[in-house]
Amino acid sequence: MTFFDFHTHHSLLKRSIHNLAEQEDPKPDSYFSVGIHPWNLNEEWEKEFVRVKEFSSLSNCLAIGESGFDRLWGPDLDLQRKVFYEHAKLAYELQIPLILHLVKGHDLLLEYLKSEVRVPQIIWHGFNLKSHMAEQVLDFPISFSFGKAILKSDSNASHWLKKCPIDRVFFETDDSQLSIDSIYKSASVILQLSEEELTLQVRNNWNKISSRKIE
Ligand SMILES: [Zn+2]
Repeated sequence: MTFFDFHTHHSLLKRSIHNLAEQEDPKPDSYFSVGIHPWNLNEEWEKEFVRVKEFSSLSNCLAIGESGFDRLWGPDLDLQRKVFYEHAKLAYELQIPLILHLVKGHDLLLEYLKSEVRVPQIIWHGFNLKSHMAEQVLDFPISFSFGKAILKSDSNASHWLKKCPIDRVFFETDDSQLSIDSIYKSASVILQLSEEELTLQVRNNWNKISSRKIE
């Protein structure tokens, strides 16, 4: 079975969303996501954002991102805020999800969610925080993408996966060298669902929240 990898910096396999690196052009035959990562933000961002907009109009662009907030490695928060809001607006206009990068920025996410009316579907990727952090945002259109942290059964991610509404779940390898199969196998044990059921579930989850569908 081929499992869908919803966020990867490596794989260019058919069933994956490849996050474009800076200066990287998309390949015509593979899915991708495009955005300016908070780590790569500077005052020149508007030039880069022209490119993001251009690529985002391609039908194999499945998501905007990753974009978000990072208090450890990002530039000043006003800039991060401004740029995140632009990414969110673009995702909303295209009706495709935004892949969220969030490090010590929970309050900034909540501030955004509470102040905006037109909130896109957001996929909080690499989630590995306490469950209550996730529960706080369940009133908003937020899903969670689980990666290597669920290989440990006592991780925060594993605990949240068990409780998370099943229609808000996705899986990813992110920047790891793991195979996506290992993530699905682990999720299948945690959720007590077969790999087939999981595969169908995440596909339906995606197609419910995005105007650009997967098969
Ligand atoms: Zn990533």
